[in-house]
Amino acid sequence: MPFTLSNDTLRSSKFHVTRCVVALSAAVFMSSAVAAVESNDQSKVFSSQEQIEVALNGKFTQGALLRGQAPVGAKVMLNGETVQTNHEGKFVVGFEREAPLQQTLIVELANGNKWRRDITLEKREYNIQRIDGLEQKMVTPPAEVTARIKKDNINVANARSGNSDLDALFTRFEWPAKGVISGVYGSQRILNGVPKWPHYGVDIANETGTPVYAPVDGVVTMADDLYYSGNTLILDHGMRVFSTFLHMDTITVEVGDTVEQGEQIGTIGSTGRSTGPHLDWRINLGKTRLDPQTIITGAPEQ
Ligand SMILES: [Zn+2]
Repeated sequence: MPFTLSNDTLRSSKFHVTRCVVALSAAVFMSSAVAAVESNDQSKVFSSQEQIEVALNGKFTQGALLRGQAPVGAKVMLNGETVQTNHEGKFVVGFEREAPLQQTLIVELANGNKWRRDITLEKREYNIQRIDGLEQKMVTPPAEVTARIKKDNINVANARSGNSDLDALFTRFEWPAKGVISGVYGSQRILNGVPKWPHYGVDIANETGTPVYAPVDGVVTMADDLYYSGNTLILDHGMRVFSTFLHMDTITVEVGDTVEQGEQIGTIGSTGRSTGPHLDWRINLGKTRLDPQTIITGAPEQ
């Protein structure tokens, strides 16, 4: 299906610092054919054919999603594993919550020339979040819902299993709702005193009924009511990057719908395991859970 992409689409041969929302560690690197050079000036043009230009856009931290640009046709490897590139040489890599701090990115041209970059990720400190007063059935689910939870998990995994060639993920993300950030990625959760899985989303608290918008273009791959996350919406942004929105009050799109950035997709609610109205926004690269705040700066409007 056709995609209308905004002017912010990173169509040029490299990312542009001035437009990039997360240029905190953006850099252009050159191959070792010349002295290794690292620069924040992405408008720099290198003319020698021996030079390989690679742009990386994002924060070099645990939990980060990095968007990159390599020469068209080049092979990209992260820690020895091949990274998918699209027809424009764009690629995406993600570093999970406790990812090793040392990562090696290699870009290899068809002629064998290689560019190597050793990346040191910033180690993150995650906070501990205690939530008390939850209904006990939401902390330790009763036996009769075990099958439902299992089915929910399979459906969610399926909804994030695609690998489409949409390139919406290379556009500038916008906050999906107005509100106040009330929870962040990575926090260890202790529910009614019981340690649970870390929290993997960014929570935006606001009143029930507050509109939720698509942060970039996408295709709906799930719109369903799940036991834990309530009304849950998943958007495919391409190349295994997905947004998930939890606890929504209403969902106004259906599976298969194409949505444009800024289009309303539903409203904030408090469905599922939730102590108050908020939008929990998550970013996945396939199964890897990443921090939405590594691809967007600042805070939502209030
Ligand atoms: Zn949350």
